[in-house]
Amino acid sequence: MSGGDKLDFEIRPNPRPVSAAERAALMANPGFGRVFTDHMVTIRYAEGKGWYDARVEARGPIPMDPATAALHYAQEIFEGLKAYHAADGGVTLFRPEANAERFVESARRMAMPALPPQVFLDALHHLIEADREWIPTADDGTLYLRPFMFASEVFLGVRPANEYLFVVIASPVGSYFSGGVKPVNVWVSPNYTRAAPGGTGAAKCGGNYASSLVAQAEAIEHDCDQVVFLDAVERKYVDELGGMNIFFVYDDGTLVTPPLTGTILPGITRDSVLTLAREEGRTVVERPVSFADWQADAASGKLREVFACGTAAVITPIGGVRFPDGEFTIADGNPGEITTGLRQRLVDLQRGRADDTHNWVHRV
Ligand code: PMP
Repeated sequence: MSGGDKLDFEIRPNPRPVSAAERAALMANPGFGRVFTDHMVTIRYAEGKGWYDARVEARGPIPMDPATAALHYAQEIFEGLKAYHAADGGVTLFRPEANAERFVESARRMAMPALPPQVFLDALHHLIEADREWIPTADDGTLYLRPFMFASEVFLGVRPANEYLFVVIASPVGSYFSGGVKPVNVWVSPNYTRAAPGGTGAAKCGGNYASSLVAQAEAIEHDCDQVVFLDAVERKYVDELGGMNIFFVYDDGTLVTPPLTGTILPGITRDSVLTLAREEGRTVVERPVSFADWQADAASGKLREVFACGTAAVITPIGGVRFPDGEFTIADGNPGEITTGLRQRLVDLQRGRADDTHNWVHRV
């Protein structure tokens, strides 16, 4: 069957899966994105034919012609979400429908075909089914799922390709930041921006990350964990981090985060935090925050907490801020109460330990 919202997946179990003993050794200390499971999902697309050849198969190299379009013009998008080992022994996904929808939006921006959200979700289910043994049971362990799609047509003309490959791979992971939930330091980049109005900032496309790497390298040179990007027009307002959204918490309990104006990724964690904080009765405002105000409010003590949020980092407190002319800390540099509370609420929901009033938790 092809083209519709429902595809039949052919299941081809890996004939040579990793042994249980080797798997246990690999999963003992997986780090982030280094260890991979036995299987992958692949689905093909061709113009006029639609989506076809959906399968679960042994994970392995993807043979590629040197003229494959994605290698030249970067028509590529991806998603990132986690499968959690739930409190009752089951497996949960957190708001995977939102990832499926964002994938459609990213595809639209990059002139790629929309993968029906139901097919995206079915692909995740099939992969988790095949690789269930790879879901870490440790408290900070999860199975990171990486769906992605690229232009697979062999053609060097600059136009949207006529053929695409959608793939899902999975990787057992521990904590994203090697220090665990300790506050991180961030570097405010003076030289580089991430996304301009009308650009691809709201799409999860590989190119956005390629262009962020030099800024991230600059952050690491300055002993920081992540880069903060300012807006590309005035270089004045905070957009987001290299791979996370940002929240500011003020002394009256108000939460502020930059608005979705097309230059930042509409994070699913960001949206969940907005909802949870509103439910707690907090004032939550989506408005621009200038770097000058960030500095001044940190100095005056009006700004109490700052945190980064995203699938990989969940909610991670930001303790210190560095920029070419100096540095400052947020309050005493330790994790704040609101940051810690929101993180706990989110993790409890993701692990199936809290009442899921929003229907965010998807059982597999
Ligand atoms: N911004 C960027 C640039 C990201 O890469 C991510 C991670 N996907 C986020 C924000 C956070 O998004 P989410 O909460 O959906 O993971």
